[in-house]
Amino acid sequence: MENKEYDVVIVGSGIAGSIVAKTLTQAGKQVLLLEAGLEAGMAFDTEGAYKNYQDYMRSYYTALAKVPNAPYPDVKDAQSPNVLDMAQINGTLDKGYFVQKGKLPFASDYARAAGGTTLHWLGTCLRMLPNDFKMRSVYGQAVDWPINYAYLKPYYEMAEREIGVASDVSDQRYPNVGDDFFGKEYVFPMYKIPQSYIDKSFIEGLAGLEISLNGDTYLPWCTSTPQGRNSTPNEKYRHAATVWNTTTQKLELQAFPKKSDVYVPVGAIWDPYAGQRCEGNASCVPICPVQAKYNALKTLKSAKKEHLTLISQVVATKINIDTSTGNITGVAYKKYEHPDSKNYTEGVAKGKIYVLAANAIENAKILLASEACKNSKVVGCNLMDHAVLLTWGLMKDKVYPFRGPGSTTNIPTFRDGKFRKDHAAWISPIDNWGWGWPTGSPDTDLDHAVSTLNLYGKDLRKHIGDQLSRQLLLHFECEQLPEKANRVTIDKNYLDNIGNYRPVITYNVDDYTLKAFKASKSVSDQIFAGMGVQDYTNYPSNEPDYTTFDKQGYVFRGAGHVVGTHCMGTTKENSVVNDKQQAWDHQNLYLVGAGNMATLGTSNPTLTLAALSFAAAENILKALK
Ligand SMILES: Cc1cc2nc3c(=O)[nH]c(=O)nc-3n(C[C@H](O)[C@H](O)[C@H](O)COP(=O)(O)OP(=O)(O)OC[C@H]3O[C@@H](n4cnc5c(N)ncnc54)[C@H](O)[C@@H]3O)c2cc1C
Ligand code: SF4
Repeated sequence: MENKEYDVVIVGSGIAGSIVAKTLTQAGKQVLLLEAGLEAGMAFDTEGAYKNYQDYMRSYYTALAKVPNAPYPDVKDAQSPNVLDMAQINGTLDKGYFVQKGKLPFASDYARAAGGTTLHWLGTCLRMLPNDFKMRSVYGQAVDWPINYAYLKPYYEMAEREIGVASDVSDQRYPNVGDDFFGKEYVFPMYKIPQSYIDKSFIEGLAGLEISLNGDTYLPWCTSTPQGRNSTPNEKYRHAATVWNTTTQKLELQAFPKKSDVYVPVGAIWDPYAGQRCEGNASCVPICPVQAKYNALKTLKSAKKEHLTLISQVVATKINIDTSTGNITGVAYKKYEHPDSKNYTEGVAKGKIYVLAANAIENAKILLASEACKNSKVVGCNLMDHAVLLTWGLMKDKVYPFRGPGSTTNIPTFRDGKFRKDHAAWISPIDNWGWGWPTGSPDTDLDHAVSTLNLYGKDLRKHIGDQLSRQLLLHFECEQLPEKANRVTIDKNYLDNIGNYRPVITYNVDDYTLKAFKASKSVSDQIFAGMGVQDYTNYPSNEPDYTTFDKQGYVFRGAGHVVGTHCMGTTKENSVVNDKQQAWDHQNLYLVGAGNMATLGTSNPTLTLAALSFAAAENILKALK
C-alpha cells in the first residue's frame, strides 16, 4: 500500500464512505479505504461475517444498558463516544471520548466500527423539504444552501435504492410540498412497513383535533415513516442499479433489463436469504439481529472487489498538504496492533483524490489536526443535532407497545410553516417502544411495582399488563440552526490511547430551538388533553441536558444526528466545501457526510447525506476523467 498511488483514498466505511467506494469501484477506479474499526468487523465471507455479528449480538444481550454502542467493541485506540458518559457540565466534562466544554453536553454518539453508525441507526429515511434548503430567503434565518431540492432529487432516488427504502408515496403528505416532491410516477423499492396498532389508535384519536399554535389553528395529521428496512418489494419499482454514464458524465439509475425483473431486498451480509423481511424483533437500535435493517456493510459488500483495497485498524490522523499548490499529497495514519495496545505503525496513503468520510466530528478533527482549509473561518463550527423533547403518558385503552421497529408513523404537520421565522420546526415520531427512552421501561416499571408498590403475583401481573400496554411516547425532534460557537476543536492536552486528538466540543441550544420546546410541549398538552392521555412527562433538573426557557424546565436528548462542521456554502470564508463538496482550499480533497449540511431541517440526515455522497462520487468521477 505504501508505494502504490490509488485513484482515490477514502477515510471511513460508514454509509458516506461506502457509497463513494462502491460508486467509484464500479466505475473502474482503484480505491483504498481506511477504516479505524477492528479487522473482524470487515469480514464479508459467510463464516467471518456471521461470527463477528454474533459477537456483537452477544455483547448486546449481556450489556446492562442497551445503549446504541452497547453491542460494538469499545476500542481504546479508536474510541467512540458513549451516551452513558454524558453528564451536566461544570467547567469541563472529561469523561469517555468527548471532552465537553459548552453550556450543555452534546448528547449524541456514533460508532467507530466497519459500517459506521448505520450499525445502530433506526433507519428512518426522510427527504429534506424544499424550504429546508432556503431558510434565509424564505424565513430570514441562518443560510441558504448553494444547492436546492431539485438538484438533490435524482440523488435522493439513488439513495433510496441503495438503502432499500420501504414506503408508499401515496401515504406521504408534508407541509408546503406539491406532487412534484416525489413525482407522480415515483415508487419506493419496497412497500411501507405496516403501521403499528399503537399508530392506528393514535391516528384515530388525532383525527379532527384542532391544535392552536401562535394564534393559528392546525389540524395535525399522521404519515407513515419511510424506513431503511426490508419489507415487500414493490413490483412497480424499475431501478436495477446506479451506474456511471461515461458519455453524459453523470450517474444514472439504470432500468431492469427485463420486464419480469423485480427488486430483491438485500439480506444479511453473511447470508442474502436472512433478513429479507423485517421480523419485528424490536431491537433496531442498537442492533438488528437479522440485518433486515440497512447498514453500510451491505453497500461495501457490493463494491467491486478487484478495485477496492480495504484496510482496517487504521486511524487517519492528518492529511499532508503541499503548501505551494494546496493539493493533498497523502493521508497520514496510525495502524494499531491490538484494540487497546499502545503499539502502532505509521504510514501515508497516497491517491490522486482524497475523501474524508469519517463523520462530521471526526472529519473536523482531521482537518484541524492538519491545519487544512485555513481560508475558511468555520472549520469545526456549526455543529448541529436535533434536540429531542420527549413527552409521555398512558392512553385510555391498551395499545400494546414494545413491538416492531422503533417508529412507523410521524406527525409531519410542524415540519414547515411561517412559524419558522420565529422558532424551529419539528417532526414528531410516534414511538413503538413504550417509555423505554425517558424512563427505562419496561424494567423500571417492574422495579417500581415490586419495590415501591409492593405488588406480587396476580396483582403485579395485572398492574404491569395495564401500565405497559397503554404507554405512549411522542418525540418532538426540533431543528437547530448553525451557530459558529457550537463547535469541535482539538487540544494537545486531550489525546487518546495512541496520541490522537479527542474531540473537544462546545455546544448549546439557542432560543430559536428553545422556543420550539415551549411550542411543541403546548402541542403535546393539547393532543394529550384531546385524546384523554394521562400525562406522565417530567423533566428532572439533574438530567444531563436539562435547560430552562421562559421559566420552564425541559430535558432534551441528542438524536444521533451529527451535522455541520464542514458546511457547504458560497464562499471560502463562510463555508468549508463548495457545491461540489470539494474543499475550497484543496482541489483534490472532498469531504462527504452530514458535515456538509448547511442547515438541518427536520429530517433525519442520513438519506440526505447518502444522496450527497452519490453527488460527490459523480463529481469525483468527472474530476478523474
Ligand atoms: C442511535 C442513533 C439512531 C440514528 N437513527 C437514524 C435514523 O433513523 N435516520 C437517520 O437518517 N439517521 C439516523 N442516525 C444518524 C446516522 O446513523 C448517521 O447520520 C450516519 O450513520 C452517518 O454516516 P457517516 O458515513 O457519515 O458516518 P459514520 O457512520 O459515523 O461512519 C464513519 C466511519 O469512519 C470511521 N472513522 C472515524 N474516524 C476515522 C479515522 N480517523 N480514520 C479512519 N476511519 C475513521 C468510523 O469507524 C466509521 O466507520 C442515528 C444515529 C444514532 C446514533
Ligand atoms: S424490527 Fe427487528 S427485524 Fe425489523 S429492523 Fe428492527 S430489529 Fe430488525
